[in-house]
Amino acid sequence: MRPALPLLLCLPLLACAQAVYEVPVATPAGLQAAASEIGQGAAPGRRNLSEDEAKAAITRVARRLAPAGTAVCQEIGRGAGCEWRFVYDPSTDLNAAATGEGVIVVQRGVADYARNDAEIAFVVAHEMAHHAADHVRSTQNRAQAGAALGGILASLAGAYAGLETGQLAQTASGVGAQLGVISYSKAQEREADVLGAAILHRAGYDIGEARDMLLTLARLSGRTETSRLSTHPAGPDRIASFDGAVEELRASNWRLAPRR
Ligand SMILES: [Zn+2]
Repeated sequence: MRPALPLLLCLPLLACAQAVYEVPVATPAGLQAAASEIGQGAAPGRRNLSEDEAKAAITRVARRLAPAGTAVCQEIGRGAGCEWRFVYDPSTDLNAAATGEGVIVVQRGVADYARNDAEIAFVVAHEMAHHAADHVRSTQNRAQAGAALGGILASLAGAYAGLETGQLAQTASGVGAQLGVISYSKAQEREADVLGAAILHRAGYDIGEARDMLLTLARLSGRTETSRLSTHPAGPDRIASFDGAVEELRASNWRLAPRR
């Protein structure tokens, strides 16, 4: 029994704020099914895209998601602006980040590892959801992460000045490694997956197709258990939570009312 730990984790992360959508707890059967699904697939591989093709794919997805993300963000009523600034980062890592001020940095590796636009859209919609649910503020409030976010935004400001929503800015040198310090609580990650699904649905993407990106992420990370200290839920947990919440959302015709 370590009753003080959840409180200690809670305070600095400010993760105790009421969730926009409380994701139902994954069932043991759901976890088992997700683990075996992850285990059955082949190891993820990169597509052979040129840089122009990768940028075009991310731009296409960002344009299609932007109005849906704004609509869901406004419906939630938590985000600061509900407008987006997309920034392409040439790093080949499979990563993306919401860095404040509606900025979403998407690394080239997202397009490389995705097998189709829906999988790219999963990642972009997840980051929109971090903005929409106001998760970014909780990370800004932590000293080290806040400083890194400030630095990223300052280095990107020139890149997106004057850009309209749906256009893709590009970083000159890449902010790759700096994205690693941005972290949310596991509850916020699950919530971003689910709110992201609502954005994907609104934009007309196939949720099943987009969900394959979760399998790719799980297979790349290779973790099977969510440890207390890891920042993202492990693959089976993340997938089973996502599936449970999507089932619930489908049953309610995608209404985002919080569970009570
Ligand atoms: Zn996230």
